[in-house]
Amino acid sequence: MTCCRLSTRWVRRSAVRAKAAAETNSSANGRFKTPAGNEKAQALRGPKRRSLSASYRMSSEGGNHQMASKANDEGTLMVKPKACSLLILGSGVAGLTAALEAADLDCSVVVVTKSDVYEGSTKYAQGGVAAVMDTKKTKSGVIAEIQKLERDKEGDSVSHHVEDTMNAGCYLNDREAVEIMCREGPSQVKMLCKIGVPFTTKGSRTQVSSSRPKDLHLGKEGGHSHSRVVHAADTTGAAMMKALVVRVREHPNITVHENMFALDLITVPSEDGAICCGCDTIDLRTGAYRRFVSKCTVVATGGCGQIYPETTNPSVATGDGIAMAARAGAEVNNMEFIQFHPTSLYVGNQEQGEEALNSVFLISEAVRGAGAILRNAKGESFMSKYDVRADLAPRDIVARGIYDQMRLHDTSHVYLDATCLSREEARKEFPNISNHVESTLGIDMSEDWIPVVPAQHYACGGILTSIDGETNVKGLYAIGEAACTGVHGANRLASNSLLEGLVFGKRSVMKSMEYMQSVPQVALSDAEHAKLSSLRFFHDADISKEGPLCYLDDDATFSLMSAIQEIMWEHAGILRNDNDLSRGLEKVKVFKSCLEGFKGCSSMQHAQLINMATVAQLVLEGAVRRKRSAGLHHNVDRPEKALAEARSQLDVPSLEE
Ligand SMILES: Cc1cc2nc3c(=O)[nH]c(=O)nc-3n(C[C@H](O)[C@H](O)[C@H](O)COP(=O)(O)OP(=O)(O)OC[C@H]3O[C@@H](n4cnc5c(N)ncnc54)[C@H](O)[C@@H]3O)c2cc1C
Repeated sequence: MTCCRLSTRWVRRSAVRAKAAAETNSSANGRFKTPAGNEKAQALRGPKRRSLSASYRMSSEGGNHQMASKANDEGTLMVKPKACSLLILGSGVAGLTAALEAADLDCSVVVVTKSDVYEGSTKYAQGGVAAVMDTKKTKSGVIAEIQKLERDKEGDSVSHHVEDTMNAGCYLNDREAVEIMCREGPSQVKMLCKIGVPFTTKGSRTQVSSSRPKDLHLGKEGGHSHSRVVHAADTTGAAMMKALVVRVREHPNITVHENMFALDLITVPSEDGAICCGCDTIDLRTGAYRRFVSKCTVVATGGCGQIYPETTNPSVATGDGIAMAARAGAEVNNMEFIQFHPTSLYVGNQEQGEEALNSVFLISEAVRGAGAILRNAKGESFMSKYDVRADLAPRDIVARGIYDQMRLHDTSHVYLDATCLSREEARKEFPNISNHVESTLGIDMSEDWIPVVPAQHYACGGILTSIDGETNVKGLYAIGEAACTGVHGANRLASNSLLEGLVFGKRSVMKSMEYMQSVPQVALSDAEHAKLSSLRFFHDADISKEGPLCYLDDDATFSLMSAIQEIMWEHAGILRNDNDLSRGLEKVKVFKSCLEGFKGCSSMQHAQLINMATVAQLVLEGAVRRKRSAGLHHNVDRPEKALAEARSQLDVPSLEE
């Protein structure tokens, strides 16, 4: 399959990728052999091997640190493990919602997060939270308003929200989970109002702290039949994080460890299978190992956007939680459904960072909700050719429409025409976006078209959970983007992700509190003495005993990350085919086995690289396994016409050529 012309950013970074791809290709030809220590080791090791302690650069505060804690001969820890009831990995909307819910029930909670507490996709969310806010409970507890609205075609209702979510997800969603999310969402939005999130209100469209739910302004986004997106101008996620973090910081039952990297989950065997009893972490400031032994562990580490070269996700989104859960034996599902957002800002030749873990700026769907339309290189509006909902069709359809137009006109982007907005409206409703496009490209969005291109945005799959966040591993829960509750099916509906984190973050707590009552004490003491993960960071002294360490300096690590990203874009991008998918899977497998041929890690980046390779393999395996195209997984060799027709009256031209 020929891919559409690469953007300048992709071209500029291709030299690094070509070098790394050459390394993987030659390994595929059998040039690198096990055991480690031969040519394979040389290729992965990078240009120059320095002493591990001297080059150890994990501190976010700068400076080199010797590792503060050591493993003894048996690989057991020498630092005293820390015990806690509930351990939450990740501090986005899902993790902090769960933390507050559990802490309010008198549970002691530890939150571990790899950067500062604010960093994660949540902080960058623009559009908002989808929730039907017009329902009112009567005294008898009957949701009379819903029933009234359901009879009224013009009004919104929970069942409309359910139907839109199912339609966007190609009806591959778990209906029970969708109904729970849509029904329980409004009360979580009310909770946010209560804790002071300054949502935009109707009328003056100003942001008001502690606003009354009935006063909220409701925006419209793609795939939604009604206006139901609650938002704080175009920086909803940042406003939510600010309020959640204030609450978390003042709660006596919650301890937050920032700059602490979760390395691997601790599991101990039991008669009923493995039990998860905590997590090994590295303090990125000091290099010290910290073992948290917990009755219950919740993975809330977000998505894996960084496995693609162009993503809206921040650099922390390397799929660590999904990879470590998979290593611990948790089932992972639907990873092939990777969402590409239709409209990330195209910046052409503008200078970007050269490191592998970059992100691109998003132009929220709410801009199209406010009337903006997409135009191709000839200035023609085109989305009505692909779907009756035109520019407000679900994201998979719009992203493929754009991609098709880029191929037809051999261009690296299309345009978003938001000139229907006055300068004042653009500045008031989209202050962040209008500022950003002006400062980056000198564009006034009320007068000029914005160049846009699809970019990876969201993982619809993840760690398979029940409607209460339970995984198949006892003691292990997953919530938020890292989880697969089944609510998104084959394609997530806009603004349903913050909602999922809010609803299932809360729900996971009730079940985990129940589970905590029954954790066998013996499992917890076994966990204290369990061996360190195979991903442990090695000391020079260990290397001679345990076999060769693959030492990767930053340049080598970033080259290899870029190679994974290149493989994923080439082989598992917006349009896929059988041949590309199986070749991509082979490449990633070779890549991963190269990395696994060595012992341990030399840096956090090295551990992230292993996690990225693991998650990339899960995406490709899911894509190869799926027999029919659906939503975000569009395999041109396996069309599913009936499904496409069920979602839209119009057939999709030229995509399946
Ligand atoms: C630009 C952008 C705009 C978006 N807009 C919207 C929107 O308008 N509406 C909507 O519903 N959704 C939106 N989304 C999606 C939504 O923001 C995310 O899916 C959601 O916030 C995920 O929340 P989370 O809590 O699961 O993960 P995150 O918010 O990503 O948090 C993950 C946390 O885990 C931590 N972490 C990761 N790995 C480790 C590790 N190894 N050790 C320790 N900690 C770790 C991270 O540091 C972070 O604290 C948007 C996403 C992006 C990127």
